[in-house]
Amino acid sequence: MRVLGRAVDDQTRCVHYRTELDIVAIRFKCCGEFYPCHLCHAETAGHDAVVWPLGERSAQAILCGVCSRTMSIRDYLEADGCSSCKSPFNPGCRLHRHLYFETEKR
Ligand SMILES: [Zn+2]
Ligand SMILES: [Zn+2]
Ligand SMILES: [Zn+2]
Repeated sequence: MRVLGRAVDDQTRCVHYRTELDIVAIRFKCCGEFYPCHLCHAETAGHDAVVWPLGERSAQAILCGVCSRTMSIRDYLEADGCSSCKSPFNPGCRLHRHLYFETEKR
């Protein structure tokens, strides 16, 4: 699976987010390409990011850098780790969800 942006290893860590738990790449709605993070997209894609609408929660837009399998946005938002290999994801990513996905109105 091709991952663009500024990845620093083969588990999708990048120059911005590179802790043990930063193993997720996200496919962007706008270009259909995987990037390690929103900053990678902002710096290298050359266009504004488009978030995934609420109605597309079943899109396979999440890539686990450990097992290289994809998961749906719905599964990702509900899980604390990879649905395939059980690797834990960075809980801090929750703070940035609105940069990738349309969030529920409150
Ligand atoms: Zn894009
Ligand atoms: Zn990045
Ligand atoms: Zn995995």
